[in-house]
Amino acid sequence: MEIKKMTCILCPLGCRMEVSIEKNKIIRIEGNSCPRGEMYARQEVEAPSRIVISVVKCRDCNLPVISVKTEKPVPKERIREVIDSLAEVEVEPPVNVGDIIVEDVAGTGVNVIATRSAERI
Ligand code: SF4
Repeated sequence: MEIKKMTCILCPLGCRMEVSIEKNKIIRIEGNSCPRGEMYARQEVEAPSRIVISVVKCRDCNLPVISVKTEKPVPKERIREVIDSLAEVEVEPPVNVGDIIVEDVAGTGVNVIATRSAERI
């Protein structure tokens, strides 16, 4: 049996949890103060995912790069592919916060959106 310690990040309380795992299945969760902690632990063990924050180049912009993020979390094992594919992207102004910069980035089914606006110089 494996015991994994993790901190729930779903609210500022930050409960420290101990998760017992046997044959890739969670058999016990301790330390969570509410059911959301259990949900968080299950997702972290069974399908960990993250929002990816990065930048893309912007041609003829008032900024050399603009910040972007994925609209939804992507599986942790796909993060490198997402970052590598964003390195190839160059946008043109104007760019507004919330604009879709890349649809279905790296075939994940998740869009990448701008988190910063940019104007033409
Ligand atoms: S388990 Fe519940 S109370 Fe604890 S950090 Fe997570 S969401 Fe907050």
